[in-house]
Amino acid sequence: MNPLPHDVWFTEVFDSHGSAFSLKVSEKLLDVQSPYQHLEVYATDTYGNLMVLDGCVMLTDRDNFLYHEMIAHPALFTHQDPKRVVIIGGGDCGTLKEVLRHPGVEHVTQIDIDKEVTKAAERFFPALVASNNDSRAELLFADGVKWVDDAADESIDVLIIDSTDPVGPAEGLFKTDFLTRCHRILAPGGVMVQQSESPLYHSGTIIRELRHDMREAGFNSVATLPFPQPVYPSGWWSVTLAGKETDVNYFREEAAADHEMPLQYYTPDTHRGALVLPPFMRNALA
Ligand code: SAM
Repeated sequence: MNPLPHDVWFTEVFDSHGSAFSLKVSEKLLDVQSPYQHLEVYATDTYGNLMVLDGCVMLTDRDNFLYHEMIAHPALFTHQDPKRVVIIGGGDCGTLKEVLRHPGVEHVTQIDIDKEVTKAAERFFPALVASNNDSRAELLFADGVKWVDDAADESIDVLIIDSTDPVGPAEGLFKTDFLTRCHRILAPGGVMVQQSESPLYHSGTIIRELRHDMREAGFNSVATLPFPQPVYPSGWWSVTLAGKETDVNYFREEAAADHEMPLQYYTPDTHRGALVLPPFMRNALA
């Protein structure tokens, strides 16, 4: 579509951390300014297609399984019997695909603010949208903050916040008010999980504040699970789980071992291992 000259690199600069990440790109496949964000898709030499929002890497074909498995399966195997699942954000549909692998899930509603992200996934990331026609899946395009405001009390088992960074349209998804409403719409035993940025760059700031705010919002237990993510700032990422009247430090280990899902990263061992925080994180979060 738009072949690029030889030796062109896409670079995301993490200014405040004095670092950057680059991928060699061969073609620009899409460039759209939506009402919410600037969306680009590139073909890369070694990571398959790359999606970028407002200059930040969202995902690549090659390594998105790490993030999508870790935002979906720890929460779903922590809940005792997840049936009603909601995803806020997640417009690329990779998380939705992982959630739908759980046969016990009866209904998944995904609410992304930006239809253009899903349209781009349909064109350039066919593997991620492969389950979108599942009769249990419902795709809505709206502001997740407003959707949670309007949702009924105790109507959800697992709530997944698969958002962009806490700036722009996603800012409201990291506020205490929002977390209080998330707590309200979860049924007792409910589990919430939120993407929570880099363990190396954000343990003492965003992750620490999120964990504090989750407790303030009424959640009785909180656990942050780090995992590798080569294309995100520092190459390392995290999700933070919060439980409503349930302890998110325990999960259904037998079920997590005994399933038919073709997973590439998540196992009961990676889950258990991720629950053991390294000392620098424990200190920063204390
Ligand atoms: N894995 C990514 C990361 O950690 O950077 C997130 C991927 S997903 C593409 C993020 C999605 O959150 C985007 O599609 C964006 O449109 C959506 N989003 C941001 N703010 C939102 C809001 N207030 N309500 C619903 N969706 C939102």
